[in-house]
Amino acid sequence: MKIGILGAGQLGRMLALAGYPLGLDFAFLDPATEACAAPLGQHLRADYLDEAALQRFCAGIDLATYEFENVPEHAAAFVAARVPLMPGPEALAAGQDRLSEKRLFESLDIPVPRFCAVDSRADLDAATAYTGLPAVLKTRRMGYDGKGQMVLRAAADFDAAWAQLGSQPLIVEAFVAFEREVSCLAVRGRDGGARFYPLVENVHCDGILRTARPLPKDPLQALGERHARAVLERLDYVGVLAFEFFAVGDALLANEIAPRVHNSGHWSIEGAECSQFENHLRAICGLPLGSTRLRGASAMLNFIGTAPATQALAALDGVHVHLYGKTPKPQRKIGHATVTAADQRSLDARLRRVQRLIDRCASA
Ligand code: AMP
Repeated sequence: MKIGILGAGQLGRMLALAGYPLGLDFAFLDPATEACAAPLGQHLRADYLDEAALQRFCAGIDLATYEFENVPEHAAAFVAARVPLMPGPEALAAGQDRLSEKRLFESLDIPVPRFCAVDSRADLDAATAYTGLPAVLKTRRMGYDGKGQMVLRAAADFDAAWAQLGSQPLIVEAFVAFEREVSCLAVRGRDGGARFYPLVENVHCDGILRTARPLPKDPLQALGERHARAVLERLDYVGVLAFEFFAVGDALLANEIAPRVHNSGHWSIEGAECSQFENHLRAICGLPLGSTRLRGASAMLNFIGTAPATQALAALDGVHVHLYGKTPKPQRKIGHATVTAADQRSLDARLRRVQRLIDRCASA
């Protein structure tokens, strides 16, 4: 069976790596010259809106999915009209606009930070009067890794923020003084059955994910699953969904969903019985879902901008290196390491060693 993937970045690469043992083949459509999944399948290098290319892409595949949530809606509809596209266009659209995403959460009784649409400079004053300060001004579309957003601490920040972001539709959200950021990775099969990975605790810096650690028996697990299940069912979702939350006391405030495999689930390649990548493929192919149970203690550390020498990392027990074949650039995710151990204490000691290597390399 041949799977078509819209997008050919590292997520596509890891999907293909998980799919070959299942006997699957892959084709990617991505306009990028440096598409790091390309060595793992056929790469159609074309714009997402190039209908002749989309037609050729669809002609050679059995079903399609995406690894990039900003695939234009028209491209998704075009593909979905020709081959099964999972998750469906509705799920893709839900994650593309922060305003409709928040309204979806509200309609499902999932708590969200106070928010308000901002379409003019005057709206910004009114919106922040409602959300209070500090607040976060974000573009409704195309934001990722903290791009397209600014924190507003006082009215004196408004003009500069408006000058930077005001040319596009915006949303303002109350700034949440969260205790932790967690994500719930969920997978739903074609038959409607769902499985959930243990909640993952995420640490971001400058809006970019640095570390992700699955937590066995997190007290908020059941709540995270309840919220994720509500979204899966509303969207009649098939595949892996990542749901990011702010944890405040015993509540989870919804931040955003990604209708795809997610950076906060990379640890699952070595840390879970069945990885998020394999489970996404199982779901869309109609295979039984794999177990989401932990295999032991694990955590993931991203390599941002530069990667420590493989030689040094490979010398450490329990360290699994993933390099994406991308040209290093500041603030760019170029790889990650998953660190595994028999228990959380030995994991902490191993993580400190790997973090030291990452820090040494970043400051070199
Ligand atoms: P996002 O692109 O919305 O996931 O934002 C990237 C990161 O910015 C989040 O993971 C948080 O660390 C931070 N952030 C975003 N929105 C808020 C908010 N309303 N309150 C506090 N921190 C936020």
